[in-house]
Amino acid sequence: MQEIKSIAVIGLGLIGGSILKGLQGKGYDLYGVSRREETINQALEENLIIKGSTNIDLACEADLIFICTPINKTIETINLLASKVKPEAIITDVASVKERIMDFVYLSPDKIRFIGGHPMAGKENKGLDSSDESLFIDAKWVLTPSKYADEGDVKTLSVIIKKLGAKIIIAEPAQHDKAVALISHMPLLLSQGLFRTVDNYSDIEISQLAITLASSGFRDMTRLAATNSELTKDMLFQNKKNVIESVKEFKKYLEGLEKELIEDEENFMRIAEKLACNRKQMYSPEGKNIL
Ligand code: NAP
Repeated sequence: MQEIKSIAVIGLGLIGGSILKGLQGKGYDLYGVSRREETINQALEENLIIKGSTNIDLACEADLIFICTPINKTIETINLLASKVKPEAIITDVASVKERIMDFVYLSPDKIRFIGGHPMAGKENKGLDSSDESLFIDAKWVLTPSKYADEGDVKTLSVIIKKLGAKIIIAEPAQHDKAVALISHMPLLLSQGLFRTVDNYSDIEISQLAITLASSGFRDMTRLAATNSELTKDMLFQNKKNVIESVKEFKKYLEGLEKELIEDEENFMRIAEKLACNRKQMYSPEGKNIL
């Protein structure tokens, strides 16, 4: 295991900012790299970092680098870092889709010590102002180690992620992408579909009344529809194959439920009760997944 003294975060938005806030006072020299000068200045003013730059070279001074740019900038950022980082530096990312990034690392001629990452925590808002020091507490954090990172590297990174309060789950990139299509990317699409169904309902009067009456149920079911558009596009486009597969499964299940509702109310209720029980067991009263 390596001793990590300095950590650089690239992309000081919701996730990058939350990592920096969560690592305050934990004994690391924290550096920040972002696209805009004003974001760097804000991070310096808030004492989140001791050095900041819009130039990626600063990140290459660190022992560990978190790439927290939008998904569509992750490969480009890995490529920029690859030939410049210290040979012992560990690089990780937080992108919500993993297979494409891991394929790039496998095919890259630069053997960087890359460990893919994806914290299973977030919000629909973006930017440094939305970041939160406790975002990762009790959250799962997926790691997809590349062949160039050894067990010691994974342990080194895990220690730091655990300091953010998260729990590590090791997964294969393809398996990860299928799983998050089910629990994150398909729900985003369904959330959009649900909102549009009500908003564009054929009877305008009913649509307006429904929007006026909508309360917490509709709010919770459509929260993801407010996800920032860049992240929405990246997740749905880059994981399209798995999202489509998940939606196919969902349609089958929905048709089955509809059929039960029409033809067999008793069986429908048996299914609904079992479902409610399983759903209740999944989350703590604070809303954390306890499975
Ligand atoms: P975000 O709030 O928009 O933050 C991304 C930041 O990256 C922006 O604030 C921008 O900073 C900076 N940036 C953009 N292009 C850059 C570049 N080429 N080089 C350096 N910095 C750049 O987005 P986010 O929600 O934190 O998402 C970032 C990553 O986290 C994505 O890969 C996403 O998949 C992953 N993730 C997100 C969530 C979530 O719920 N949001 C959850 C888990 C994982 P400036 O202010 O300098 O323009």
